[in-house]
Amino acid sequence: MQLFKALEVGFRRWRNQLISPIKYRGEAVHCPVCDHSFSHFLPAGSGERKRPGAVCPLCRSRERDRLSWLFLQERENDLLEKHMQFLHVAPEPRLSEFFFNAIGEGYITADLMRKDVMVRLDVQDMLYPNETMDAIYCNHVFQDVPDDRKAIAECFRVLRPGGWAVVNVPLFAESTMEANTPGNVRSAWDKRPDEHVRNYGLDYQQRLEDAGFETEVFSPEDLEPDRQKRERFGIDGPRTGFLHFVRKPAASNEDNPSGDSSPEDRA
Ligand SMILES: [Zn+2]
Repeated sequence: MQLFKALEVGFRRWRNQLISPIKYRGEAVHCPVCDHSFSHFLPAGSGERKRPGAVCPLCRSRERDRLSWLFLQERENDLLEKHMQFLHVAPEPRLSEFFFNAIGEGYITADLMRKDVMVRLDVQDMLYPNETMDAIYCNHVFQDVPDDRKAIAECFRVLRPGGWAVVNVPLFAESTMEANTPGNVRSAWDKRPDEHVRNYGLDYQQRLEDAGFETEVFSPEDLEPDRQKRERFGIDGPRTGFLHFVRKPAASNEDNPSGDSSPEDRA
């Protein structure tokens, strides 16, 4: 089964690389992640959540990946360095290549279910001691995690003071709605077993700050002010979302004179 899956993935990658540049030849859109232009991006999602212009035919990046890519390209020199301890949860293949090239040893891929990663990891209970990671990249994961506040607290715990994370989630409403909140559209969740555990709203930023993080939220307009470029990059639609960049405050000397931590500190 594993071999069949690997062959299928390999075939799909080969087909994309060979056929997509021809089949979708054009200049109307440009994917900054794989640096190729096409006639259009492909649709993603299904049913009422189907959206056009989402997926790059070649590298399969989504709107959110292209948004993150622009941010990372702009900040690469400040954020990434060789051999930093970098945890990439639910790794996106093209971004994974980029991080691995920038970091090398120290770059770790992790997931709870997938087998093509280095570490099996539950974000609600990370296996790392306190303050051991320089950075975490965890995109579109928390909406599927039963206790997202615990997962956010775990990210905070394992990051070193001054460490950073990108923790984007899909935003659907003004305020976050849990699947099991009485009186909400629970029936919709029951009908859709693949549905997220919660629909996040704009108050998501507050959850990050409640855990102790300093937060910065970037819209597509912040990262690419030129509307025509946003349209060309396929990051101008309402489903692109926002980039949530967080940092664990640097420790003051009073709080932690030695700057050391030990596994016993783990909460
Ligand atoms: Zn691409």
